[in-house]
Amino acid sequence: MISFIDTHCHLDGDEFAADRDEVVQRAREFGCTSIFLPAIDIKSCHAVIATASQYPGYCFPMLGLHPEEVRSDWRKQLADIKEIINSYRQSSDANRQSSDGIHQTSDGIHQTSDAIHQTSTVNILAIGEIGLDFYWSREFEQEQLEAFEEQVRWSVAMRLPLMIHCRKAQNELVAILKRYADQLPGGVFHCFTGNEQEARQLLEFPRFVLGIGGVSTFKKSHLPEVLPAAVPLDRIVLETDAPYMAPVPLRGQRNEPAFIRHVIARLAEAYGVGEDVICQQANANVARIFHLE
Ligand SMILES: [Zn+2]
Repeated sequence: MISFIDTHCHLDGDEFAADRDEVVQRAREFGCTSIFLPAIDIKSCHAVIATASQYPGYCFPMLGLHPEEVRSDWRKQLADIKEIINSYRQSSDANRQSSDGIHQTSDGIHQTSDAIHQTSTVNILAIGEIGLDFYWSREFEQEQLEAFEEQVRWSVAMRLPLMIHCRKAQNELVAILKRYADQLPGGVFHCFTGNEQEARQLLEFPRFVLGIGGVSTFKKSHLPEVLPAAVPLDRIVLETDAPYMAPVPLRGQRNEPAFIRHVIARLAEAYGVGEDVICQQANANVARIFHLE
């Protein structure tokens, strides 16, 4: 059976309130081994942490301020989000230290401390989703640019990878990232839908990959030609962006991680390799970018 990771799923959203357990159950049945949850604002930072806590070891939170949520209060939002990230980072550091101390005493206590570690800490996996979006509005263009750059600096300082959203703003986005190119820990350009030239420009950032989802299955998409021509298999990861972007033949429905199988099939066809090869490569890329062992 194939095994894959959904690197971008808004599982905390209201769309899944009624049947979240069933969605996760189906994900497991179809070979999804982990789901990464991006936040979009302060409220959803709390929601993704709560959802990740419900599925420990399976769902993992990413925290940040989405460009479409950047408004005049963005500085306050960023301060609050940073505080949450720091509190989790400190508690995981503290746990590590206290469990290290206890390790030296006795085996019985050692087991207890491991159990505590698993239940009391949520690992913040990445900063995201953050970026620039000038598709709907440029009202807060300047604020978006500043908020994005501030969160890029967090990524550098905290050594957390980035989950990046970019729509109608690639030149501006690349210009900001270039200022930090040598220091960036890496990340994902999520929901990539561009052409070969755009793919090559993004892949010039060495520790970054492209997130590929349902769009690759759409009839009018050029991705099945663009990807094999410009994107080696060690530079892609899989994602749903659920509840959005359901792949053909389920287009228009609420998307969910189990549906990634249709994306995998399309990519296998496009690259001319087996579905297992797509999955193995994508999983290895996820492990590398997100420092999972
Ligand atoms: Zn998203």
